[in-house]
Amino acid sequence: MEWVHRLLAWYRHHQRQLPWRDDPSPYRVWVSEIMLQQTRVVAVQPYFARFLARFPSLESLAAADQEEVLKVWEGLGYYSRARNLHQAARQVVAERGGRIPASSVELAELPGVGPYTAAAIASIAFGEATPVVDGNVLRVVARHRAWREDIAAARTRNRVRASLEEAIAESGAPSSFNQAMMELGALVCTPRQPQCAVCPLAGDCRALAEGLVAELPVKRKRGAVPCYEIAVGLVFDGELVFIARRGEDQMLGGLWEFPGGKREGAESLAETCLREVREEVGLTVAVEEEICTVDHAYSHFAIRLTAFRCRLAGPVAELCCERPTRWVRLDQLRELPFPKANHKIFAALGM
Ligand code: SF4
Repeated sequence: MEWVHRLLAWYRHHQRQLPWRDDPSPYRVWVSEIMLQQTRVVAVQPYFARFLARFPSLESLAAADQEEVLKVWEGLGYYSRARNLHQAARQVVAERGGRIPASSVELAELPGVGPYTAAAIASIAFGEATPVVDGNVLRVVARHRAWREDIAAARTRNRVRASLEEAIAESGAPSSFNQAMMELGALVCTPRQPQCAVCPLAGDCRALAEGLVAELPVKRKRGAVPCYEIAVGLVFDGELVFIARRGEDQMLGGLWEFPGGKREGAESLAETCLREVREEVGLTVAVEEEICTVDHAYSHFAIRLTAFRCRLAGPVAELCCERPTRWVRLDQLRELPFPKANHKIFAALGM
């Protein structure tokens, strides 16, 4: 396994300087790994800096309000990550005296920590010899060994993980080994135009030898992403606008929003707005004007969201909502955590 030592030597010289690498304490590694789930390094860096400035320790995170945590996370997406991290921090403080578990098995018992994240934290922060398998690692291994299996399949992931057990043990440096594999995939063995000429694995890369680099890895194609038309109402009562907090079990849970929902059948978007406001929170409203339409893409679907300015056309006492609700001034909206798409509405309102 001479390739392992070439890989480690390459990593020593070419690794990126990333804020969580300067001081790989368990808390910082944990926060970084949660933020890096399905999110690119470049997007995570400013959030990581802000998060650590606001919550420099596990204890400070555990003591914070959930709304404050969501506000610092606002814009990074996948908000269940923030809620789970917060909940897990409280759990570690309350049940383990603030000591973050050192093994991947124990880490995987915490909210929001799956097998991948547990392996990453355990290896990087505690030196556990457990291979980490993300998209970068799958691509490097599939090419290095010229494996033609679908890398989206769970059995391929398991095969890749098993194939790295011996390598990580031989490395004698589990933290560097895992990070080196991911870094090689991110910087050299990239999806398009991999830089084989400077790759430390080129000497024994079977895809390169067999002319298969452009064909590998094999990945099953996902279907087309659906797009939903959504209408929301900014319901005004004088200078105050109505907002409701999304349920914990919902996507974007814990964030605030304007009431609204998906267009149905042949109804106009204004009709959707009236119906959804009525169904969601019981208020009878009249549409005054369209404020704006914004497009926003999530990982598995996209939305075209049209916001309407509405006025109450029935009594406020009709309000009927099991979720927390508030009436706030427009200038207070930016102080609260909202989904990213709503910030485009704020901009349209001149805020
Ligand atoms: S030689 Fe090319 S294809 Fe093979 S692992 Fe390196 S970058 Fe990837």
